[in-house]
Amino acid sequence: MTLDHTHDPDRRSWIQSANDSTTDFPIQNLPFGVFKRRGANEPSRVGVAIGDQILDVAACLSEGLFGPDATSVAESCCEASLNPLLELGREAARTLRRDLSEILRIGSPVFERDHAIASRILVPTSGAELMLPVRVGDYTDFYASIDHATNVGSMFRPDNPLLPNYKWIPIGYHGRSSSGVVSGTSVRRPVGQTRDGAEGPPTFGATRRLDYELEVGAIVTTGNPLGSPISLDDAERHILGLCLVNDWSARDIQAWEYQPLGPFLAKSFSTSISPWVVTLDALEPFRARAYPRPADDPAPLPYLFSQQNTNAGGVDITLEVFLSSARMRDERMEPYRVSVGSFVDMYWTIAQLVAHHTSNGCNLRAGDLLASGTVSGALKESRGCLLERTWRGTEPLVLPTGETRKFLDDGDEVILRGFCERSGWPRVGFGECRGVVLPARTA
Ligand code: MN
Repeated sequence: MTLDHTHDPDRRSWIQSANDSTTDFPIQNLPFGVFKRRGANEPSRVGVAIGDQILDVAACLSEGLFGPDATSVAESCCEASLNPLLELGREAARTLRRDLSEILRIGSPVFERDHAIASRILVPTSGAELMLPVRVGDYTDFYASIDHATNVGSMFRPDNPLLPNYKWIPIGYHGRSSSGVVSGTSVRRPVGQTRDGAEGPPTFGATRRLDYELEVGAIVTTGNPLGSPISLDDAERHILGLCLVNDWSARDIQAWEYQPLGPFLAKSFSTSISPWVVTLDALEPFRARAYPRPADDPAPLPYLFSQQNTNAGGVDITLEVFLSSARMRDERMEPYRVSVGSFVDMYWTIAQLVAHHTSNGCNLRAGDLLASGTVSGALKESRGCLLERTWRGTEPLVLPTGETRKFLDDGDEVILRGFCERSGWPRVGFGECRGVVLPARTA
């Protein structure tokens, strides 16, 4: 991938809000999602976020705005998920991106000819309902932050926080795709088996240790045939882009159930996904080197090592978590920022996750979701879940109302935000991934 006109920092849109330096969605971003007008009896379809508007790709198709190559790609955007577009692959999406940028730029012949076209191809985001962007096939959740793994390990194994496999193998587990929900969907506090002491029998009831996990999700575009691994340097061709993921977790249920086979019902009750998929193409100016492994760390095995991955396998995404209690919302307080970190702190890159996942011949398919695992950094302020942030509840958070939190209360809203900023480039953001905690059914 080299930079092209779609990345030009000087390119501006005729949509004024897209030129605001604080928007997540300048003309250089163009993330894909699925929407319909709120309350309208119309099919959901693919849209592209631009400033405070959504560009309706199907409407652009009806207006005949695409060139011949992009027209056939745009035809896949009349569906209620990104899956048909994902099936076409990353190169096809790039062809569409180039035409979208041409349509939206200042000086676009389309707009110059007919200013009224704006009302036919744009929908204000404030008047739209955003859907789950992808019909997720398989969902795999990794554990790619070494700081997260070390912090969590040290709570349970103070003498031996990091297991011996960690620096060799990207650890993951197979999650549940059926319970993925779009940002804005409330999340019901789950019930399950928990055990208070180390000796007594478990009880069945609402979790008392509900947590979030700040994660980045990678959306698979074209997959690979069963039996044909994807090589490290080819891996990103199979990823359309990234989104924000909240892997809600019930820590007490998890602690009791996870041995010996790993997370199960502690995670599968809901996973929140942000509505916009930011393409790897849009993220190109924000690439970074992979995690700098200290000299005494082992070099990755050959199938997980390449110079290209070492030099540019990372992505510098600033990631924030905000919490807003019901009382804070009643008192009209701004959400409280619980943490801020960066995706560059991950020990394993996205390409390494893909290469490892398929190294045994396992086939990925268009629409699969690969989540990074909790994104934590070395600082206390960059710990991406409450388990770490409050150190298992021993260092409670104090909210601006004076309320304290060890884990999440009913009514709490968790808001994940992500954005890329680099001098000389317009900010490219992910928007938000939100969810309010509802009381357990038995409560
Ligand atoms: Mn997770």
